[in-house]
Amino acid sequence: MDQDGQKDEPETVSCGNSKCRSKIVPGDDHDGDENSGTKKRKKKKSQKTTKRRELMSFSELPEYMRDNEFILNYYRADWSIRDAFFSVFSFHNESLNVWTHLLGFILFVGLTVANIMHHDKFFPVDAKSPGNVTRWPFFVFLGGSMFCLLASSICHLFCCHSKDLNVFLLRIDYAGITAMIITSFFPPIYYIFQCTPRWYFIYLAGITSMGIFTIITLFTPSLSSPKYRGFRALLFASMGLFGIVPAVHALVVNWGNPQRNVTLVYELAMAVFYLVGTGFYVGRVPERLKPGWFDRVGHSHQIFHVFVVLGALSHYAAALLFLDWRDHVGC
Ligand SMILES: [Zn+2]
Repeated sequence: MDQDGQKDEPETVSCGNSKCRSKIVPGDDHDGDENSGTKKRKKKKSQKTTKRRELMSFSELPEYMRDNEFILNYYRADWSIRDAFFSVFSFHNESLNVWTHLLGFILFVGLTVANIMHHDKFFPVDAKSPGNVTRWPFFVFLGGSMFCLLASSICHLFCCHSKDLNVFLLRIDYAGITAMIITSFFPPIYYIFQCTPRWYFIYLAGITSMGIFTIITLFTPSLSSPKYRGFRALLFASMGLFGIVPAVHALVVNWGNPQRNVTLVYELAMAVFYLVGTGFYVGRVPERLKPGWFDRVGHSHQIFHVFVVLGALSHYAAALLFLDWRDHVGC
C-alpha cells in the first residue's frame, strides 16, 4: 500500500511498523551498535525497495494481473501507489501504453486551448446565423477525448497496485471509451441537423442515453462479471452501429453538399483507424506470433492506442470541417 511506500522512504524515515520490520530487518530491534544497526537497516531497506520494484514474469503474477500470456516479462505487480506513479519514468511493459495516451491527452489539451483562444462563441445570441455558430458541441467532443485518453493513461499506470484498484480503473477506462464514443457524435450530428433541431435532439438524446446505460452497466458489479462480457460487447457495438442511422440520414439531406466527400474521407479514416486498432487489440498480434519479443515495445495494445489517437485526430479534422461549413452557410 502507499502507506508502506511512505514508510520505505530511503534514509529519512525509519521502518516503524511491525509488518514492515518483520519483512526488512527481522530481529534487528535489539542491535547493540546503533550505527551498524542503522547501516544494516538502510541496506536491507534498499534491498527491499529494490525487490518491491522488481519486474516480474507472467508466471509470477497474481491472478488479477494475468491478461496477456504472450507478454512474458517486465510486469509490475502489487506496487505501492508511489512506486507505480514514479514508474511512469521507467521502462516496463506498460510504459508505452501509458505514454501513447498521455501524449495524446497533452495533444488534445493543446488543441482545446488553441480553439478556446481562437473562438469566444460558446453560446452566441444568434447561434444559427453565418459566422456566429455555437462551438459547444465541438468542445464536448474535445472534452470526451481528453477524458478517455487521460483515464486510459491512469489505468495503465496504476492498475498494478491491487486487485480492487485494477477492477475500478478498468471500469473508468471503459467509461472513458464510452465518453469518447458518445461525444464523437456531437459535432457531426449537431452541425448537420442544426436547422432541424428535432433531429439533432432525437439523435443526441438517443446516443447519450445509450452511453449512460453502458456506463451504469459497467459499474454494476453483477453485470461486470465475465458471464456478461458478450452483453457489454453488444453495448459498445450498438453505440458504434447507432451512428449508421444519422450518417445515412445526413448523407441523404446533404447529398449535394460539395464538402460531402472530404468529410466522408475523414470519417471513413476514423472508422478504419478504430477498426484496425481493435483488430490488433482482439487478435493480440504481433506478440502471439513471437511471445516475449514484444514485451516492452510493439505489442498489440500499444498499436491499438496509437490507432485510437489517430482515429480521434481524424474525427477532430472532420469536426472542424462540419463546424466551418455550418459557420459558413448558417441556417
Ligand atoms: Zn489501453
